[in-house]
Amino acid sequence: MTTAIDASAVLVTRNPATGLTTASYPVADSAVLRAAVDAARVAGEWWRSLGWKQRRRHLSALRLALAREIDDVAAMIRAETGKPLDDAVLEVMLAAEHLDWAARNARRVLRPRRVRPGLLAVNQKAVLEYVPLGVVGVIGPWNYPLYTPMGSISYALAAGNAVVFKPSEYAPGVGRWLADTWARVVPDHPVLQVVTGFGATGAALCESGVDKIAFTGSTATGRRVMAACASTLTPVVIEAGGKDALIVAADADLDAAATAAVFGGMGNAGQTCAGVERIFVVDSVFDDFLARVTTLATCLRTGEDEGTHYGPITMPGQVEVIRAHIEDALGRGARAVVGGADSVRPPFVAPVVLVDVPSDSLAAREETFGPTLVVDRVADLDEAVRRANDSRFGLAASVFTRNRKHGIDAARRLHTGAVSVNSVLGFASIPALPFGGVGDSGFGRIHGADGLREFSRPKAITSTRFASPVDLMTLERSPKAVPNALFLFRLRHGHR
Ligand code: NDP
Repeated sequence: MTTAIDASAVLVTRNPATGLTTASYPVADSAVLRAAVDAARVAGEWWRSLGWKQRRRHLSALRLALAREIDDVAAMIRAETGKPLDDAVLEVMLAAEHLDWAARNARRVLRPRRVRPGLLAVNQKAVLEYVPLGVVGVIGPWNYPLYTPMGSISYALAAGNAVVFKPSEYAPGVGRWLADTWARVVPDHPVLQVVTGFGATGAALCESGVDKIAFTGSTATGRRVMAACASTLTPVVIEAGGKDALIVAADADLDAAATAAVFGGMGNAGQTCAGVERIFVVDSVFDDFLARVTTLATCLRTGEDEGTHYGPITMPGQVEVIRAHIEDALGRGARAVVGGADSVRPPFVAPVVLVDVPSDSLAAREETFGPTLVVDRVADLDEAVRRANDSRFGLAASVFTRNRKHGIDAARRLHTGAVSVNSVLGFASIPALPFGGVGDSGFGRIHGADGLREFSRPKAITSTRFASPVDLMTLERSPKAVPNALFLFRLRHGHR
């Protein structure tokens, strides 16, 4: 059961760097959600009836608005998350690329197709169709408040669904911009709506009668979402947290690996679901690699002014998680080669690089979601893969080696949804690739053809073209029907 929602409450957003109030938004309760889902159902019927070409035209209009208003959207992302403006601009660009891909490829991936009926049904025409689900509820996080939810929204819309989006309480403005812009480019048809509020509004969305929930957020909330959806058998996609590893082989380009490690670990203040948190380095290059990471991390600047490498920790409560991970590791014998416990200066956290971290400590096992790296020594690539796989999370990973064959072999053995060889987060900018995790990182896929299918229902249609020469689908079978079928069966399966 959902916690009661006080609809007279107001959601006030603050600039995470300064704490100053930026805006206020209504808190949607169950009645508001029901009305939104009802309106979405009507709009969704219209949207579905348009067909691929018209839908693509409208999605293009949304993309063009994103491109035209990129400065405003990026400024809003910066105001709500505190991230540098350049990072916010990149986020909008990536979101637009995905929207474009989804709109362009929906017809190719989802259009009806004939499939072979097989010998026993040779008289049938068999068609596989992908039908929109109806109304998709999207629940999003704050760390990439446009790119991340758009990974579900773009693909759900392109597949012919209506969407009701509940943004994070820390980034409702980005969601509001999306809904307002939709209303401008496609007036009178609320195919994309936004409801604002706290966690309870997200919980109410799970129970509002939507046809699927696409959740992106922490593993703990993902479990709650799944439990809520279980009572109505509402299907879910769970895009949850990670504890991603970067592996450095003995033959790796150490400069490239160190640059990627620092970017993947400290970029966006470490608040990236598929960011680097653990690094496994083959013994022979450990010291060289660590020296490079130390030099790069020491030069990073955090703060609220433009021109810093990364901004504040967006969600105030996360600061204590980061502090606890650092203190737990140091208390168990780890060494900080960059920063330390005093790097935590809320709302900012300066870079921290830890070595000799016991493998059962919080920093080695739980998602830190801060600008910290745990660097560990391994004997070889095999041990690195084994150690990387020793985690309940499995979102993504990186492997650095000059031998691409070894890199791809390691990639195949890593128990994650994605792997980048000689880059970090390489998959994020390739819309054709699916994105999602295994284990506590969740299940289901957004992005790519699989992302489009995630928001569709496969439907099988067969139609009889002519009477079957061997009619088995009758209780009045001729005495020869089964022997004839058996003869054909033996011809087909009775020999090697
Ligand atoms: P949370 O799990 O705290 O929140 C995610 C969303 O769920 C928010 O909109 C939140 O609303 C809402 N919510 C909270 N409680 C409930 C509930 N009981 N039922 C339904 N919805 C609820 O995650 P964060 O926003 O803190 O995001 C950070 C997390 O997201 C990290 O773990 C990160 O790894 C993960 N993430 C995963 C990604 C992926 O693709 N795998 C991508 C990006 C982030 P409110 O904010 O109002 O409480």
